[in-house]
Amino acid sequence: MSNLIWLFTIPVVWGLYEFAVALRMLYLLKRGARTIPTPFGLIGALIKQGQQRREKSERRHQRLMQLLIAMRALGRALPDGLAVLDSESRLIWSNSQVEELLLSDLPERGARLHFSDARAQEWLTNGASEPLIDFANASNTELRLSLKIVPFSDQFRLLIARDVTVAMRLAQVRRDFVANVSHELRTPLTVINGYLDTFEPDELPEYTEVLEQMRNQSRRMVQIVADLLTLARLDHNTESPTGDVSLAPLLGYLLDDANGLSRGAHKISLADTLPMDLIGDEKDLRSAFSNLVSNAVRYTPTGGTIALRWAWHAEGAVFTVQDSGVGIPEQHLPRLTERFYRISTSRSRESGGTGLGLAIVKHVLESHQGRLEIESVIGQGSTFKCILPRARLRYRDSGV
Ligand code: ADP
Repeated sequence: MSNLIWLFTIPVVWGLYEFAVALRMLYLLKRGARTIPTPFGLIGALIKQGQQRREKSERRHQRLMQLLIAMRALGRALPDGLAVLDSESRLIWSNSQVEELLLSDLPERGARLHFSDARAQEWLTNGASEPLIDFANASNTELRLSLKIVPFSDQFRLLIARDVTVAMRLAQVRRDFVANVSHELRTPLTVINGYLDTFEPDELPEYTEVLEQMRNQSRRMVQIVADLLTLARLDHNTESPTGDVSLAPLLGYLLDDANGLSRGAHKISLADTLPMDLIGDEKDLRSAFSNLVSNAVRYTPTGGTIALRWAWHAEGAVFTVQDSGVGIPEQHLPRLTERFYRISTSRSRESGGTGLGLAIVKHVLESHQGRLEIESVIGQGSTFKCILPRARLRYRDSGV
């Protein structure tokens, strides 16, 4: 009997002891004590497990806090202004730089971003898929900014504002320099050309070839200077052109131009499928379209075809010049509209090019809110599309 009592008493006493130690441990844990008795038994093991879980989550919490502090420091250390916006353009977070750059345009947290500049606001409303370059804030017009929005989840977007004042000033210095040099070169070149023209073809028979080369090179220089001055003018001109451009005579001129340059070497066609005229600068558009036509003639071997087309496009209208010429390797396509960018300098020189034609085309189209699209297959030909927005179109006859 006494054995039986012991059999029950020992586990009960042991259990009570275990329970008492666990209670003391919980009490100490609650008071935040550093040294806690080592738990034992089932209850102790459970408490120990809970304690380990708590320590782990504390460590994780600490790591997250450190990461957050580091991210904040990183946001302060970055030279760019950063702001996190939600899908409705409400401000979630921003660093101090963005406050300095956007000034009064930056809203309170939780409020919607709204630019006082109409162009910037339109850019934001239209999805800001491309960066906005050279944006001047209404509160500080000296400051030039570039803005970019990078979506980083379904909900959030990162606005990056960069101070590009110095870069823009340097670009302006470069543009002014090129314009001034071109301007200064115009007079001496006119004089040289004038003297060269005074020589009669048979006057110096032994120098005929030399004189011919001098004439060609000096004409090329005159063309380069003229193209550089055109680009300088387009760079400086910020006003939107609003003249009436009748397409029928313009297309007729381009066809004549193409036939004149080709001298019967190509099959040239024109399709005028659109009853619309353009609102813009007649001289600039004619020069841009002419550049494409002259390129098509120059880079298409004898017997090839050249097709000019004025037609509807999803965004408005498109003037297309399609040739069956030499074509352009794909890797060159993105850089073709850069100044003096040429696939082969010798090929361009032989064909009398300046390397500025497509840069002019791009600028003219941009000044009309349009763009240039280029497609090409080597050996099969190229297609140049001048896409102009609907706002630039008007019905030919209505005069609206
Ligand atoms: P360029 O005066 O040298 O022709 P552009 O700016 O008009 O300069 O053209 C840039 C380059 O693009 C040219 O050097 C030429 O290699 C290429 N290119 C332009 N148009 C065509 C075309 N229709 N077919 C093939 N290559 C072309």
